[in-house]
Amino acid sequence: MLFNFQLSTPKEGLVDITNEVTEAITESGVNEGICIVYCPHTTAAITINENVDPELKADFLEGLDKSFPELASFNHAGGNSDAHLKSSAVGASETIIVSKGKPLLGTWQGIYFCEFDGPRVRKFFVKIIGG
Ligand code: ZN
Repeated sequence: MLFNFQLSTPKEGLVDITNEVTEAITESGVNEGICIVYCPHTTAAITINENVDPELKADFLEGLDKSFPELASFNHAGGNSDAHLKSSAVGASETIIVSKGKPLLGTWQGIYFCEFDGPRVRKFFVKIIGG
């Protein structure tokens, strides 16, 4: 079963999509299986990380900014090569085990849509396989 979501993103940031993914799993009726969360964009990404301390989001973005700065020597006409690098480094998707009708996440884990070149209206897909 494939679910299609839309969201409005900030200039840069992590948007918690754990509830959307959990609701999709519930709606699918799948009890045991696999869930793929996929982002069809080249300057955004999907990740799983801590959902407790809100300060961590800022640290996550600062760390990526320092690791992938926008360099004057870059040639990409879009002027957003840093966002493309962050997108590939973090990754376009996450695979999550579905167990007992729920995403099998650790106590501190949440699923995030990562925006690196917003604000924009973005999409993400949730594919659920199993029975
Ligand atoms: Zn670009």
